[in-house]
Amino acid sequence: MFKRQTLIAWLTLVAITVMPFTALAQTQIKYHSNKYTVQDDVKLGRQAAQEAESQFPLLRDENVRSYVENVGRRLVSNIPSQFQHPEFQYYFKVVNARDINAFALPGGPMYVNRGMIEAARTEGEMAGVMAHEISHVALRHGTAQATKGQKYSILGGIAGIAGTILGGPGVGQLAQAPFAVYLLKFSREYETEADILGAQIMAQAGYDPRDLANMFRTIEQQGGGGGGGFLSDHPSPSDRYARINREAQYLRVNPSGYGDSREFARVQERLRGYGTAPTMAEIARNGQRYPVGEQTGNYPNNAPSGRVAYPSSRYQSVSIFNGGVNVSIPSNWRQVNDQNSVWFVPEGAYGQHNGQAVYTHGASFGVAQTNNQNLQRATEDLINGFAQGNSNLRMNGGYQRTTLSGRNALVSTLTNVNEATGRPEIVRLITTQLRNGQLFYMVAVAPQNERGYDNAFSTILRSVRIND
Ligand SMILES: [Zn+2]
Repeated sequence: MFKRQTLIAWLTLVAITVMPFTALAQTQIKYHSNKYTVQDDVKLGRQAAQEAESQFPLLRDENVRSYVENVGRRLVSNIPSQFQHPEFQYYFKVVNARDINAFALPGGPMYVNRGMIEAARTEGEMAGVMAHEISHVALRHGTAQATKGQKYSILGGIAGIAGTILGGPGVGQLAQAPFAVYLLKFSREYETEADILGAQIMAQAGYDPRDLANMFRTIEQQGGGGGGGFLSDHPSPSDRYARINREAQYLRVNPSGYGDSREFARVQERLRGYGTAPTMAEIARNGQRYPVGEQTGNYPNNAPSGRVAYPSSRYQSVSIFNGGVNVSIPSNWRQVNDQNSVWFVPEGAYGQHNGQAVYTHGASFGVAQTNNQNLQRATEDLINGFAQGNSNLRMNGGYQRTTLSGRNALVSTLTNVNEATGRPEIVRLITTQLRNGQLFYMVAVAPQNERGYDNAFSTILRSVRIND
């Protein structure tokens, strides 16, 4: 039988033990349902990373990159165990763009804009944005959102780039990025989760989680850092500021502490030495950022005229991909370097439509990353990637065997409606494997009713020499 006093003592004891426990409970985050495998995240992210890196100018400064990488690794190693995936490979690169932004792709590739590092007032603020992005990856938000079948909306500022980004081979409107979808806008719920998990990771890594909230203020004060800024993808900063700070009350910051203010200042100083970085919008407007050859073409800012000369019967030998491939091209065609593929086109056969490079006649060459060692399946993946941005693209018949530079190759014939001209066109895709497992491809495109190109395409195909 309890004496009254004992009962009160017992209640007090319960209150004391339970109260702090409740008060210190940090928000529990759970995965959303996801029909994709963890391996899918890795694969999609890898493909998207390849596309992204053909579009975004990376800052070639190992000093800065390794600094950002160190901060990133510190954060990654403090992801709660239930959200760690041994398959994921986080890595960090710096994009030479002014906009205050960062983005991460499924499975781990992460890109931090130079503008974000320059805008942050402390290393903690920079780490905050990175922790937020890492959280989207760890929570597998990209594929979770895809599972829900939501329509993807590509982000405002990045949109200019994302539109052309996923260009891949850039066959007319095939040039829609297969995985631009991952530069997508997440729901408010996902954003809140990334803020909360980001704050938790920060604390665990020894950063003050309120620095993530502070970064929103910093970005607002700096006017968002251009159209492609973090806030344009991430709405309602004041709500989030409050929410993160509320979460921070429940978090114990790892007393080992982290954040090297001197190193951060040194990196900022170094970046200032580079002058002003272009904005994402400027990068998108200027097209190709990595001239591959001397003959880098600029797209005339108009749609292709569709009126083009027949291919010359004279051919010139051209070396592309740093000498990795030699090919003979009609002498009246010119080289246009488009993202990660190289086009050879007659005048009047290329231009822009809705901000995308469009080609009506010509041949292009590219290399695609693939996890599939089976040629036909790798080719299917490539075609599926093209088709994602182009509902008019249809496979016409099956795969035919051929040879390309002495190795087994497949020919796939596709029909399409050219985005710029509205005319039906035939697209031939010839694929073969490189020694390193990557897929090498040639695309030949011409309007359906123009037969004069078949000979030229066969001559080009026969002339290809791959030196891998
Ligand atoms: Zn986000």
